[in-house]
Amino acid sequence: MSTVLETEEHQALRAAVAALGKRYGREYMQSLVSEGAHPRELWAEAAKAGFLGVNLPEEYGGGGAGMAELSIVLEELGASGSPLLMMIVSPAICGTVIARFGTQEQKRQWLPGLADGSLTMAFGITEPDAGSNSHRITTTARRDGGDWLLTGRKVFVSGVDIADATLIVGRTEDARTGKLKACLFIVPRETPGFRRNRIDMEVHAPEKQFELVLDDVRLPADALVGDEDAGLLQLFAGLNPERIMTAAFGIGMGRYALSRAVDYAKTRQVWKEPIGAHQAIAHPLAQAHIELELARLMMQKAARLYDAGDDLGAGEAANMAKYAAGEACVKAVDQAVHTLGGNGLTREYGLASLITGARVARIAPVSREMILNYISHQTLGLPKSY
Ligand SMILES: Cc1cc2nc3c(=O)[nH]c(=O)nc-3n(C[C@H](O)[C@H](O)[C@H](O)COP(=O)(O)OP(=O)(O)OC[C@H]3O[C@@H](n4cnc5c(N)ncnc54)[C@H](O)[C@@H]3O)c2cc1C
Repeated sequence: MSTVLETEEHQALRAAVAALGKRYGREYMQSLVSEGAHPRELWAEAAKAGFLGVNLPEEYGGGGAGMAELSIVLEELGASGSPLLMMIVSPAICGTVIARFGTQEQKRQWLPGLADGSLTMAFGITEPDAGSNSHRITTTARRDGGDWLLTGRKVFVSGVDIADATLIVGRTEDARTGKLKACLFIVPRETPGFRRNRIDMEVHAPEKQFELVLDDVRLPADALVGDEDAGLLQLFAGLNPERIMTAAFGIGMGRYALSRAVDYAKTRQVWKEPIGAHQAIAHPLAQAHIELELARLMMQKAARLYDAGDDLGAGEAANMAKYAAGEACVKAVDQAVHTLGGNGLTREYGLASLITGARVARIAPVSREMILNYISHQTLGLPKSY
């Protein structure tokens, strides 16, 4: 892929991450999945090299760069077959929200660990009865003396078992109904009343998803991140990085699948020429490449806008990047599987198990349809049906 749009530092970062990813690769991830293990070694090495905290402030041990750089890290790890899903939540959402809105004490407590990989934080917003409509979330915090009591349920929250804490999106009791005035709480993993039940997913990734039950979880006053009245501003500071990073995840996975298919198409021969000489095989692979490149362009735009402090502009671009990357990833993986014929469905070649993983980029953290709704209403000014 062309890198002329990136600085020399970006290109060097890409090359260094790609070299690390190559040492691990898809085989590493597949063996973790079959053992039920976590990518601890890769996480630790990526952190030690400064890759995981590249977006976090230097004064807290981060790299002092931004989403442009963090998205390069995840894309390249994905392109090598070993994406670290928790990068989307730990340094990107939680690290950003704490760095931008946390108290001095919260920054001191969490940022150095998130930057050096010794601490991980999950992020829980999705609820069983709210789903795509975050305005309906009912997880509620009420004051009890100087403490908070948090009650509610979340679903599909990734990595709660390995995360030291989860950043939970709720609302305060006095803002229980109506438009969401989001409040963010840091809930340490072993807090009494904070229970997790694993959801059995068909996604072949080492990171697991959980239903969370919060039953009068008692939290100190300083568990609240930022301002109780700041509402959506603080939340969106974390959701735009999440979308940019999901785009990086999709582009990385799509590139990995495409490269495997291209290698195969160059050598597999059942007629006079390798199958890649047939345009019915070559053209869809070329299309997949074009669509991944286009998605990456939009991801770069979103990251630049975000890093420049333009939250509003970044919001539209991050949504479009997530959409484009999700679609490009699903198509690239599908075409890769098809290119390998029967081998596309074998465990040995490891491509079929990407089919569900690719769909994650279309569904989460905001589905294709909700992005189309956003663009219809916010960008095109079309009326709303819901
Ligand atoms: C692997 C994985 C990891 C995840 N990790 C996390 C995590 O760490 N933290 C977290 O909080 N959540 C996480 N999620 C949840 C994810 O963000 C949600 O699944 C997603 O937001 C969709 O919500 P839902 O599943 O409730 O679908 P629903 O909201 O029920 O939507 C179902 C379908 O209806 C469509 N739809 C809904 N409303 C409309 C409308 N108005 N117009 C058109 N179509 C509509 C949607 O596009 C979708 O196709 C994860 C999900 C997966 C699969």
